[in-house]
Amino acid sequence: MITIDTEKYDLNTIYILKEHPDIKSGRCDNCNHAAFHSYIQEGKLIRKCKNCGMMKSI
Ligand SMILES: [Zn+2]
Repeated sequence: MITIDTEKYDLNTIYILKEHPDIKSGRCDNCNHAAFHSYIQEGKLIRKCKNCGMMKSI
């Protein structure tokens, strides 16, 4: 097992932008990618990274 010493995001969790502000605005915290797919789920706007799939409610 290799353990990575940086913060690891759970890709099955929808993070709340207010609680987890973007480290770099408009970029994915997990992989630093800048392309997102946005959709509405349960009345919330979800922003999903096109590269790694990390989700944030914005
Ligand atoms: Zn990403």
